[in-house]
Amino acid sequence: MTTITPHQFLGVFTITDKERTSLCTESLAPGLSVYGEKLIGHEDKEYRIWSTRRSKLSAAIKRGLSEMPIQPGSKILYLGAASGTTVSHCSDILGTNGTIYAVEFSERTARELIHLAASRNNIVPIVEDARHPTRYASVVAGPIEVVYQDVAQPNQATILYENLKTFCSFGAWGMLAIKARSIDSAANLDEIYSKEISTLDNLGLQIVDNLDLSPLEKDHRFIVCRVTEEMT
Ligand code: SAM
Repeated sequence: MTTITPHQFLGVFTITDKERTSLCTESLAPGLSVYGEKLIGHEDKEYRIWSTRRSKLSAAIKRGLSEMPIQPGSKILYLGAASGTTVSHCSDILGTNGTIYAVEFSERTARELIHLAASRNNIVPIVEDARHPTRYASVVAGPIEVVYQDVAQPNQATILYENLKTFCSFGAWGMLAIKARSIDSAANLDEIYSKEISTLDNLGLQIVDNLDLSPLEKDHRFIVCRVTEEMT
């Protein structure tokens, strides 16, 4: 028998069948699988299994995330959207009253993102470079409550801060998947993480969560931080 129960985070569910327990979200676009994920019909709804191997946000929840700022109705900016795997689950969570501005700079990858947005009214795809937030400022109707970042770039903390500064105000949230090997291919992992976290700290962001994603995501840390000072 399959049971589906609400997770402690609004818009996220736990599904248990005789084989395993997984995370899932209620689909905003029933009948459509985005990345080959399993669709489960239950009562009059459809749920999508949220893979911890394909999505760092799902892995972070599994690893004990304590704050989940992405909630029904939120307005979020997602940097490094790729073809939309995690964006699609965020879109489910936000529901029809929320909006996700999804930035991806690879035109080829963004084609799939644009295709995804055609079936979901709450996704606004933006083909741009996350290092230059002023280039897409005219498209983003703020204020943004959460900036989520998963880009393979060397200066990840700085990119997050520049976007927070451009689109957010006091109390907003940053969520950052630190991809260590995009920062330094050889240095000690703890040193890489400490440096990025110190950068966020020195910029005045309050670190709320700091999770090791391994073994679900090798060489990644997941940080949740909050704007608690004026950004200059
Ligand atoms: N977040 C996605 C998910 O969970 O479904 C996976 C993202 S993938 C690890 C990183 C993506 O960031 C790639 O698609 C890459 O093209 C994009 N990217 C890297 N640098 C970027 C930049 N400066 N601006 C926008 N996108 C960038």
